Amino acid sequence: MNEHVAAEVEHLGKVYGTGDAAVVALADVSARFRRGEFTAIMGPSGSGKSTFMHCLAGLDTPTSGQARIGGTDLGSLTDEKLTQVRREKIGFVFQSFNLLPTLSAWENIILPLSLAGRKPDRAWTKQVVDAMGLQTRLDHRPAELSGGQQQRVACARALITRPEIVVADEPTGNLDSRSGAQILSLLQACARQWGQTVLMVTHDPIAAGYADRVLFLADGRLVDEMARPTPDRVLDRMRRFDAQAVR
Ligand code: ADP
Repeated sequence: MNEHVAAEVEHLGKVYGTGDAAVVALADVSARFRRGEFTAIMGPSGSGKSTFMHCLAGLDTPTSGQARIGGTDLGSLTDEKLTQVRREKIGFVFQSFNLLPTLSAWENIILPLSLAGRKPDRAWTKQVVDAMGLQTRLDHRPAELSGGQQQRVACARALITRPEIVVADEPTGNLDSRSGAQILSLLQACARQWGQTVLMVTHDPIAAGYADRVLFLADGRLVDEMARPTPDRVLDRMRRFDAQAVR
């Protein structure tokens, strides 16, 4: 695999169920994700976005094809090794933040390190906490933080292990537009300043406008790709999907 490629899927397919109940969630999807590149994944509901992200991040097993992270075929790994790859190479950000309510912001942020029995790297931790603007919030529990602050804690937690890949599933879905813009700028900075490969599922053309490119899924297939997206161009492309769907 090319050293500039952080992750890659080849002829990825996923079928849920069997026989008459079989649902093809992904069909023959191939794509590459370069280091330092921020990609948005878009498509109508049910088009396979979550399945795609889950297969790429080793949270789900494809029925056919391969998902590779840093050249390693995830399908060739034991469960234990897969967990290790996920923990070390991938940071996750979810729509609903998924913070542990009884832990402080700081404890949430360093949780991936605590689980791996590792000590925080001071300089990196400071860089992440500063970038997320959380210096004065570290002792707070999630319930004492705004949605935007909680998502910044979740981003810090995703970054604390310096993952090569950051996977964000509708990260701004529960946020007001100002907090959402902050999170998107941070994800953009992850890619541009820190060279991380960022993948984000979103419905929002404005959010997609922060990415370097957009992949469009429909009915489990990769149907289009857009470089240097702007919200207007993304919206226009999505309208054409809708027009096709009602035809
Ligand atoms: P999206 O994230 O774009 O909304 P999904 O990846 O969640 O799409 O779903 C793609 C297709 O696979 C849909 O038709 C969905 O109903 C189906 N699907 C997803 N997960 C399951 C599952 N666990 N069992 C059966 N069908 C599923």
